[in-house]
Amino acid sequence: MAQRVCLVHYHEIGLKGKNRARFERQLVENLKAALAAFSPCEIRRLSGYILVTFAKQADVPLAHERIRKVPGVARVSLAFLCERNVEQYAAAAVEAMREAEVTGFTTFKVHAKRSNTDYELDTIAINRAVGEVLCEAFPEKKVQMHHPDLVVNVLVVQGSVFVFARHDAGVGGLPVGTAGKVVSLMSSGIDSPVASWKIIRRGAVCVPVHFSGRPQVADTSEYLCQDLVRALEPAGGIGRLYVVPFGDCQREISLACPGALRVIMYRRVMFSVAERIARMEQAKAIVTGESLGQVASQTLENIIAVNEVVDLPVFRPLIGSDKQEIIARAQELGTYGISTETAPDCCTLFMPRRPETHAKLDQVHEAWDAFDHDAMIDHLVDTLEYVDFDSCPSYRAPRALRERHEVLAPR
Ligand code: ATP
Ligand code: MG
Repeated sequence: MAQRVCLVHYHEIGLKGKNRARFERQLVENLKAALAAFSPCEIRRLSGYILVTFAKQADVPLAHERIRKVPGVARVSLAFLCERNVEQYAAAAVEAMREAEVTGFTTFKVHAKRSNTDYELDTIAINRAVGEVLCEAFPEKKVQMHHPDLVVNVLVVQGSVFVFARHDAGVGGLPVGTAGKVVSLMSSGIDSPVASWKIIRRGAVCVPVHFSGRPQVADTSEYLCQDLVRALEPAGGIGRLYVVPFGDCQREISLACPGALRVIMYRRVMFSVAERIARMEQAKAIVTGESLGQVASQTLENIIAVNEVVDLPVFRPLIGSDKQEIIARAQELGTYGISTETAPDCCTLFMPRRPETHAKLDQVHEAWDAFDHDAMIDHLVDTLEYVDFDSCPSYRAPRALRERHEVLAPR
């Protein structure tokens, strides 16, 4: 019986011209990390695909599901790996077509491709030989050359023949590690984990930063954030989470500034600290989960009033998304259940009754100068804490912090 393997398709990478080899190498590395928990497997590039072969056949279905979640994967096929033996690969084609019956197809065609011309059968002969066997096995199905419901692929490569009919969609995007590094502001809410995932899917390594209300409130939100990072692990984009105990500073701000502007002050401090972390991490942008008009703080005026404290570009991947769309994605990613557990974080702490919705910049500047924001930002950077995760092969910790690891030790 033919062996089952995974054939990974990655069309977008194919478009990237000279970068292609680098993108493919990164995808292979990321797939290795993603599949580390399975039996030893071999992962290599093969004629426009990435081939994954497993020591234990029982691992294949689960690994196939795991591969679909790796950014850069457009589609995955559970293929049959056969010898150059017509009976064997035609039998595999019958099996592949039987498995595809769940899709309810009625028309099909065989599509043979050879990357080695030293095989005595050409593609027309392969199509005919396999087609005959399939027509006999499935007399109720019809052959159709143009736009058939199902294509049975027969791929002759380097002495082997791969047969596959179905493929399952991957998450698409680009391999993590090909688009640089960003810092993302992560609350324990619904939006920011989705925003982080979106930027990870475009190939960026993401360094989330969470501001908790500790010591004014319990540290529950910090643990929820760790759970969120774990839920995002299949994408392989996060190597470290920073936690900033922010409660005392919020108290200080709430005593010094007009109530209506408090939230904007909190957020200006959060952005400033995130930018400092970005500089240490050599990250080149900041990401938030803001969506225009979703809550009081997310009006254009307020976004401008917060944005002006940083020089790095701020990306807001959800700015044009409706809540329902964000929730649907969060459910798919498995973050929704965690995000809807209630935990007091810095958002719930010292909240004014009527937050400003259309901040005027001169009033914002006056409030900003009512407390020593520079000293506060320095203090917060000095008291940073972090937790490391091992699911992102492209993450490199900043040197400066590596030495201080003991002092800042994760709990
Ligand atoms: P979310 O669902 O991501 O919490 P939200 O709808 O609650 O967003 P806001 O509270 O206005 O909206 O937060 C907007 C963005 O600011 C968040 O998406 C996140 O990027 C950032 N943010 C908010 N609170 C925190 C926090 N405690 N720590 C880090 N970032 C935060
Ligand atoms: Mg929130």
